[in-house]
Amino acid sequence: MDFQVSARKWRPQKFSELIGQEHIVRTLSNAIELERVSHAFLFSGTRGVGKTTTARILARVLNCEKGPTIDPCGVCTFCTEITEGNCIDVQEIDGASNNGVQEVRDLIDNVQYATSSARYKVYIIDEVHMLSKSAFNALLKTLEEPPPRVIFIFATTELIKIPETILSRCQCFEFKPLSQPQITQQLELICDQEKIEIEKRGLEDISKIGAGSMRDAQSLLDQVIAYSGRKVNSESVEAVLGIVGGNTLETFVDKLIDRQPAALVSLIQEIVKQGKDLGLFCRSLMEYLRNLLIVKISKEPEGLLNTHTCSLETLKKQAERFHADELQVMFAILTRAEMEMKRSTLSQMVFEMALLRLIETRPFQKIDELINKINQSENTNLQPSLPVQSGSSNSQETISTPPANTVSQNSPVSWDRIKQQVSKTKPFFEHYLEKCRVSVLNEKEIHLVFNDNFTFDLVQTPENIQYLKETAKTVYGHDVDIKLTLDTSQPPAQVAVEEKKKSIDTEDTETGKQKSESEIIQDALDIFGGVVVK
Ligand SMILES: [Zn+2]
Repeated sequence: MDFQVSARKWRPQKFSELIGQEHIVRTLSNAIELERVSHAFLFSGTRGVGKTTTARILARVLNCEKGPTIDPCGVCTFCTEITEGNCIDVQEIDGASNNGVQEVRDLIDNVQYATSSARYKVYIIDEVHMLSKSAFNALLKTLEEPPPRVIFIFATTELIKIPETILSRCQCFEFKPLSQPQITQQLELICDQEKIEIEKRGLEDISKIGAGSMRDAQSLLDQVIAYSGRKVNSESVEAVLGIVGGNTLETFVDKLIDRQPAALVSLIQEIVKQGKDLGLFCRSLMEYLRNLLIVKISKEPEGLLNTHTCSLETLKKQAERFHADELQVMFAILTRAEMEMKRSTLSQMVFEMALLRLIETRPFQKIDELINKINQSENTNLQPSLPVQSGSSNSQETISTPPANTVSQNSPVSWDRIKQQVSKTKPFFEHYLEKCRVSVLNEKEIHLVFNDNFTFDLVQTPENIQYLKETAKTVYGHDVDIKLTLDTSQPPAQVAVEEKKKSIDTEDTETGKQKSESEIIQDALDIFGGVVVK
């Protein structure tokens, strides 16, 4: 078997073949040409971005018979030996398994001897952050004053673990993760040379999952080729990588638009049954929503879309069904869900719950319109948007129950003015305020009670509280204290409906008879999505 994995076979052999690290190539090339090469380098960056490869190229650059040259010949004894890992003067040491002080002492003893035949003795220590503290200390003196023609190249994925004393003695380079197009381009080149027929869409999927690592992407490519042979279609890429295809995403968003929670949950179950990765699906969905937003805000979205998941026409059609604000809220929900899924052993349930929240975000814009409409058509005592003082006592934080007159007769109007002000300055924020009720509202303070953790967490940041204070000040003309409380004991929808029923019972004679009782209840149900309990 002469099969060689792509990552090895296609490993760059000179600076000009290195992808995505132009800033490093340039600095190193200049140093070679100016003959100002440092004796110690530290290469940091995530895995598979070219650290060890660059170290080997540097060893060749310095030792090539034609060199030192930034364009090593690739055929001389040194070039070939270094490529094959046989060069006695270029040693590659795994820091993880040689991390003790004794190993470092042996290395230092070895450093003292002159090179056998090469120009430079090069020590490449991979995963150098694994060295023990005493091993690092043993290295210090040699690093400070190394014998002539000795060069150390350290590579690490965890820069933060490298002692300051080492850092200050090295020339440090930070390797960037590769971009998706950079990886796709390289994979395309490999497939071209290897006579592998593969759809671009498949390559893009592989690059995406490679997440900045060329080596990972190349390993995935090998895996896909092993599965499909020389002719690879996107479906087999999806099958091997466990990704959900564009069609499923499209269907998923359609069901989101139609607000079909049961259909969404069964679609998730289907995805899981097929052995697809839900975390990846969540990411794909985020990308899809991002594309919908781009289509919505840009007149020429083509160049800004980073995916092939479905046609532009479909995206445009679907984007019309969303408000830009909604898409942003949905994106935030999924961002959070993705993090929670990584931590949870019940990732499917976490995702399902997030989806139900996604559905909830749909009618936000409608609420504004409806509330305005109802507020206009009914007298000010009937305020469905302000279920005042529900009397609930199970709050997580104890709040003093305010006397019944804390919310003055005119207060609801003030609250509406605050919300109007919010809608002018930060329209997106108004959605959060729809999810709370006001328990205290007077000249001095406003208490807002949230019934769900999610919105509460979003709103309770110091910046947001400051923003609310400033907004209230604009309306009141003086400072007002803002307090936020979380109370998950009672869903607001129900509160609202009950409050509204109460209002209707007591004030039936004053409502101007513009709407029948059942119509008003129906309005409330439309707004808050609750059910009539009695
Ligand atoms: Zn050479």
